Amino acid sequence: MAEEGDLLKEAMFYRRVDGNAVQCELCRRNCLIPEGKRGFCRVRENRSGTLYALTFEHPLPLQVDPIEKKPLFHFYPGSRVLSLGTVGCNMSCLHCQNYESSQASPEDFDLPTVSCHDLIRLALQNKCEGVAFTYTEPTIFFEYAFECSKLAKEEGLFTVFVSNGFMSSQAAEAIIPFLDAINIDLKGSDKFYRDICGNARLQPVLDNIKRFFEAGVHVEVTNLIIPTKNDSDADLKFVSEFCASVSTDIPLHFSAFFPVYRMLDVPPTSKDVLLHARDIAGQAGLKYVYVGNVPGVEQHTFCPVCGELLVERDTFRAVVRNVKDGKCTKCLSEVNIKT
Ligand code: SF4
Ligand code: SF4
Repeated sequence: MAEEGDLLKEAMFYRRVDGNAVQCELCRRNCLIPEGKRGFCRVRENRSGTLYALTFEHPLPLQVDPIEKKPLFHFYPGSRVLSLGTVGCNMSCLHCQNYESSQASPEDFDLPTVSCHDLIRLALQNKCEGVAFTYTEPTIFFEYAFECSKLAKEEGLFTVFVSNGFMSSQAAEAIIPFLDAINIDLKGSDKFYRDICGNARLQPVLDNIKRFFEAGVHVEVTNLIIPTKNDSDADLKFVSEFCASVSTDIPLHFSAFFPVYRMLDVPPTSKDVLLHARDIAGQAGLKYVYVGNVPGVEQHTFCPVCGELLVERDTFRAVVRNVKDGKCTKCLSEVNIKT
């Protein structure tokens, strides 16, 4: 992480308020940060009235993943993507699988330094087709993601965010020209966001799903189903019907929960509930619905018009079978799959 003497990166999206306090406008928490303090995410610090991004060029972890792992199923299936996160998050979900990094401060780790140029070089050396900002929340390391995304586009790489969708409209508008695809978690009701995710809110997430889709960014949505917390028919209908209201072409991923972090007393999601959720989403009109994190459920994509196999998947391996130029090769219907 940044040491004294390092050149610190000034944050984007903040304004000076009373005295040397600042208001961060990067995400919808809008933290008011007194001098010498940090925001909720622990990685943006006010030093004498200037806000700094402490994890700029300090990734954790950094690895090559299949794109299916994000999950993105309709965006260059089978491609390799250099994936990175940093410590910190603007939510504090009780079920966070990455809590050791998302709920940590930069000092808690001996973080490596990887410049934006080196990151893009690594992606090319590792024969990746793209770069993904993921694992925790790309919004809180926005400056790093933003500069890397600009460089990635210059080198012909695609860019991906895996996000909780709680960024401000200014941040979303800034990244849109340099972002190809995003998977946004739609976690549940407003009450779920307030009670489980550290007093976050639902509406900004809904606004951003719509905003990215309407701007032409490829959007997929993930809903982690947690027993007794967001698994009622009303919850599942809400998620499905919202996605369908934006577009029935949006792929929706229902994912199984496993006990972790501060939800060790909650049982794992049953396969029956996941399959029931898939039925509800189908009734809402969504054409592409997947069930993940549970064995024994096929994850292939079929043409919603003629039923032809479009993409064959086996765990995180994917092979495009019958798609060309965004169309099913059998019936020539448009299918929302980039290849
Ligand atoms: S990015 Fe961090 S500091 Fe800024 S508003 Fe969000 S949580 Fe607060
Ligand atoms: S938004 Fe994601 S990374 Fe952040 S705390 Fe919640 S589950 Fe963890």
